[in-house]
Amino acid sequence: MTSILVVEDDHRIAAFFAKGLAAEGYTVTTAGDAGAALDALAGAGDGLSLVLLDLGLPDVDGMALLRELRAANARVPVLIVTARQSTSDKVAGLDAGATDYITKPFAFDELLARIRAALRAADPETSNVLSVEDLTFDLVSKTARRGGHSIELTPREWALLEMFMRNPTQILSRVQILNRVWDYGFDPGSNIVDVYVGYLRRKLNRPGLTPMIQTVRGAGYRLVPRA
Ligand code: CA
Repeated sequence: MTSILVVEDDHRIAAFFAKGLAAEGYTVTTAGDAGAALDALAGAGDGLSLVLLDLGLPDVDGMALLRELRAANARVPVLIVTARQSTSDKVAGLDAGATDYITKPFAFDELLARIRAALRAADPETSNVLSVEDLTFDLVSKTARRGGHSIELTPREWALLEMFMRNPTQILSRVQILNRVWDYGFDPGSNIVDVYVGYLRRKLNRPGLTPMIQTVRGAGYRLVPRA
């Protein structure tokens, strides 16, 4: 059971996170201020898997709460979720011991991906390698291999490949891909998805290997045809 503590004083946002995370199978508790968060942390002990931390809290600043946690040797992954966008805020958050930092507004899928990444990093027992047929992708080293060859990828291509490999037989629409791999503010009329799928396809499909990334007309793409 993976349990997440949401520290957020805006009840609407907290409820939105709680609902979305519960739908992904996480057990969620919420705390509206730093005091409640410390109580929840003390109560959960080692049972807590991850903390989503808003910085603007009514009692103590979230950054101070984070420092207090780290000073007390708590090793739980903490993902800061905040409207504070400046580089100095991000640097301060990461230096204070945050595992990751995500700024509002963001796509919920991106938050989920960052949560998964933080949980993987915290649990060395979890496999870091995705594999589909003869294709493997190491989520930590960002190395893809197929047919005995390693494949050089750019960051956008990693993100795209990870999405395909997590949903290998599912048709992914351009809009779904755009929302997850790019920004949800990105112009949906752009052909950037097709361009990057093309790049990735050329890298994955060497002579003699079964072609991957099928175009499904009018619908999108999928990594491998359904068996
Ligand atoms: Ca707040």
